[in-house]
Amino acid sequence: MPTRLLYLNDSYCYEANASVKWSELGLDGRTRVALDQTIFYAKGGGQPCDRGAIEGNRMKFEVLEVVAENGEVIHLIAGKVDLIPGQEVRCTIDSARRRLHSRLHSAGELLCAAMWDMGYKYPLWPVSSAIHYPERSCVEFGNLVNESARETLKRALEVEVNRLIHAGGAVQVVTASDRTAAAELCGYFPDYLPEGHSVRVVTMAGHRGRPCVGTHVSDLKEIGPVTITKIKSGKGRTAVSYALADSGAKET
Ligand SMILES: [Zn+2]
Repeated sequence: MPTRLLYLNDSYCYEANASVKWSELGLDGRTRVALDQTIFYAKGGGQPCDRGAIEGNRMKFEVLEVVAENGEVIHLIAGKVDLIPGQEVRCTIDSARRRLHSRLHSAGELLCAAMWDMGYKYPLWPVSSAIHYPERSCVEFGNLVNESARETLKRALEVEVNRLIHAGGAVQVVTASDRTAAAELCGYFPDYLPEGHSVRVVTMAGHRGRPCVGTHVSDLKEIGPVTITKIKSGKGRTAVSYALADSGAKET
């Protein structure tokens, strides 16, 4: 049974109980712990992992890293740790770190929606990759912008993204029953997703949604001011870098 991912339904859940499924000492000297359910986000989907602690039997262990392996979420703890199958534990995550990741990820998805609204839409402008790390946040589109038009787009996109954030609106997580239902919300057919499975789609205040497994804020206002730091275009791709105005990221 895969780990139940509690953050999919609630990005603001910073504390929860869980039961240990198994633990083992890894080759790198760290203990690998799997739980029946978890609030920890495992690194992936362009979002960094959560950090925090697992507490059980009056012992508290720091969770250094969280990774996903075959549907199982593995919590990595320094050294050899005794956590036995069936043991009840209390999990807590670093809420400031999670909140920053949720704001960054929501800003990236909103940037995609704003580009769509500005006419940079599928199929000419597919999103080819996205990364929402504090040190590097960037959405890449599979098309080119002429050098002469880049500065204008950068300014217009920044104005539009901030206008949407200022206006606010609900960030909603919708479960589409299959790819066809997802296509109605997203405006394109997500053929890279498995057939016959439900698809988690995140929509930004009624704008175009995207299939997404990340954590998000509940209202666009929580993102705060965003800066478009750079637009780079070449080799068939346009990379739009952005930063939260208060995150301290530098223009590169
Ligand atoms: Zn996403």
